[in-house]
Parts: sequence; structure tokens; C-alpha cells
Amino acid sequence: MTAAHYLYIAITLAVFGGLYWLGAVRQVPLWGRVFIALALGALVGFFLADAVGLTKWIGDVFIRLIKMLVVPLIFTTLVSGVVAMGDPKRLGSLGAKTIAIYMLTTAAAISIGLFLGTVFTPGAGVDVSTADPGPIKGAAPLAERLIGIVPTNPVAALAEGDVLAIILFSILFGVGTILAGEKGRAVGEAIDSAAEVMLKIAHMVMEVAPYGVFALVAWAAGTLGPAALANLAVLAAVVYGGCLVHIVLVHGGLIKLLLRLPAIRFFRGIFDAQAIAYSTASSSATLPVTMTCAQENLGISRTVASSVLPLGATINMDGTALYLGIVAMFAAQVFGVSVGMTEYLLIALTVTLVSIGAAGIPSAGLFLLATVLSVIGIDDAQTALIIGFILPFDRILDMMRTVVNVTGDAAVSVAVAKWEGELNEEIYRAEATV
Ligand code: ASP
Repeated sequence: MTAAHYLYIAITLAVFGGLYWLGAVRQVPLWGRVFIALALGALVGFFLADAVGLTKWIGDVFIRLIKMLVVPLIFTTLVSGVVAMGDPKRLGSLGAKTIAIYMLTTAAAISIGLFLGTVFTPGAGVDVSTADPGPIKGAAPLAERLIGIVPTNPVAALAEGDVLAIILFSILFGVGTILAGEKGRAVGEAIDSAAEVMLKIAHMVMEVAPYGVFALVAWAAGTLGPAALANLAVLAAVVYGGCLVHIVLVHGGLIKLLLRLPAIRFFRGIFDAQAIAYSTASSSATLPVTMTCAQENLGISRTVASSVLPLGATINMDGTALYLGIVAMFAAQVFGVSVGMTEYLLIALTVTLVSIGAAGIPSAGLFLLATVLSVIGIDDAQTALIIGFILPFDRILDMMRTVVNVTGDAAVSVAVAKWEGELNEEIYRAEATV
């Protein structure tokens, strides 16, 4: 232990004490405390980079706590949401709207990615030939994933956390409960009360979010300092810039212009989820927080929040799509591949398909590159060099694209809720409560 380690421990204890005081005594709302934790974590991690390993376990415990909620929260809230809807026929219109708008926002993301990747040429003059080739994994075939949505054993699907299969089983369970009428009432009520219990547990876990966020961001800032970024500064700037443009124009535009709701309330309402997405780089792990924020801060009904958000965490990845568009251009520039209209369309189509199949876990996006680059004639050996070049720094790009993935899911759920008459605008327009 060096002096820096002791200093780090002292600062961390002071920060934790301060965060606790802000919450317990000053009643600062959670999103405010999470914001402070994020900023302080980045600052402390940056200056005391050598010591950040000391608190990484706190971040890991926090991630485990929220992941613990994913399966029971989806199952209970989705079943109770379907039962609350009362009429199974409405599921069709809800599902169709959700999937259509998910596709549209993904298409917008790829277009922004391809545009910025073309205009800012992040790959110009970059030499990847000295990079250690990274691992290559193709995306799972889409047909296989589609068939996998039907679980052969729902208990195994729950045990493995297979979100799409859990969604299908929960919807069927909810519909069965409605159809069973009086005889199904008891089970419907029991699951509804279990959903309330799960939301209470989610609250407890979110109370420790500021500490987890501090530890995770300090660790990321300490291990991925500016030295790492210098290597791919242009690429990182284009990815961060593109993500911000997408959030403001597409998500903000959807809320403000199309839905005519105050965008600022939206962004403040989901800030916790964004900060946790940024610190964990996993939209699946963030899901319980997104679901809680959607219901309690944005006034989205349980029916919509519990169906649209888990679906989005698996199939809707605006940030990943945008990132893949930029990296495809980056690779084309590195290897001097000329890109015309046909290639743009091929990339867009492939990115849409692979981003549907991507898992919401750290670095998932990077490994989709092999499939995307192969359509513009970049071979596996070249792809391995690109992956090897980006991999050591991918986390910092991943953090940002995960924020966009989560924001996209939340924005679409506001839209679907509004169109389905499932948005409580009084809650949406009020102060954020979690
Ligand atoms: N980490 C991202 C997510 O969880 C996926 C990716 O790597 O692009 O949403």
C-alpha cells in the first residue's frame, strides 16, 4: 500500500459519507446523488489511477445486486402488466407499434453513424498492422435466435436469464390468467403483489447506486485514462459526438416534437438509468433501474414498461448500431475499401439484423463487427486486426453506446405508452421521485 492508496481510501470514505448525508439529511433526490457520484468517481479515478482496484469490488457487488432483480422483475411485472391490461387483443397493437418504432430509431442511428463515419474519416491514416489480432466470433444466426424465443422449458429460461424466452412465457402466462377468469384471479393477484415486492427491492438496491457508480466510474477512469484514448482519439470523439447527436435529435425529437412532451422531464426521469448504463456498460444489467424509472418518474404504465423495456434491452440497440456504422467506415478507411450506395445499404441491413441479436452485455457490439465487415469485403484476418486495435479501449466507447441503447428503449416506451393511452402525464410532468 502506498500513500496514494491510503489517500484513495480516505477520499472514498469521505465521498461515501457525503453521499449518505446528502440523501439522509439533505434529501437530495437519487438522480442528483448519482450525478455527484459519477463526477467525483471520474475525478478521483483519474488522479489516483493506481488505487482504483481497491474499490472495484463495490462496483461488482452493485452490478450483481441489480442483475439479481432482472429475471423476477420481468416475470412478475410483465404477468401483472398483461393481466392489468385485461384484453389480450391489445397486445397485438402494442407489440406492432413497439417493433416498428424500434426499427425506425435503429435505422436513424445507423444513418447517423454512417454519415459521421464518412464525414469525419476516423480511420484516415490509422495503422492497425501492429495491433494484436483480437478474437473473432460471428453473430448467432438470426433464425436460431428466433426459434430460441420459444422455450422448451420455462424454468430453464428463467434460470438462464434468457430474456426473450421469459417475455414470451410471461405474456402467455398473463393471457392464460385472464382467460381462466375467476379461477385465475388468485394467481394474478399473487403475482401482482410479488411485482410490488420486487419494485420495493429495486428501490432498496437503487439506494446504493451512488456508491456503486462511484466505484465503477473511478475504476473505468483509472484504467482507461487519457493515454488509452489518445490512440483512438478521433474514433472516440466521433462515437461520443454521434451518441449525443442521436440522443438529442432522435430521442429528444421524438419526445418533444412528435409526442409534444417536455424533453427535459424525460432526461431527468431516466438519468439514474443512464448513469448506471454508463458505469456498467450493460443494458441488461441496467434493466431493473430503467423499468423503475419508467414507471415512477415517467408515469409509464406497468403494462408498457414491463413489455417494451425488456424487449428493447434485447432487440433495440441504437447506440450499438450507430457505433457499428462508424466502425465499419473506420475499417473501410483503414483498409482503403471504397464505399458506395450499395455498401451503405448492405451495412445498414446487416447492422440492423446483428444489433437485434446482440446481447446487452459489455463489449457485445464489438464482436458483431466480423459479420458487418464481411459484407463489404473485409476478411477475417483484417477484422481481427480492427478488433485487436479497438478492444483495449472498447470499454470507454461501450459505456457511451450503452447509454444510447437504454435511452432509446425509454424514449420508445414513452411513445408507445402515450399512443396506447398508458402514460400518466401528471407523473411525467412532476418531479422525479427515484
Ligand atoms: N454493451 C452494450 C449494451 O449492453 C452492447 C454493446 O456492446 O454494444 O447495451
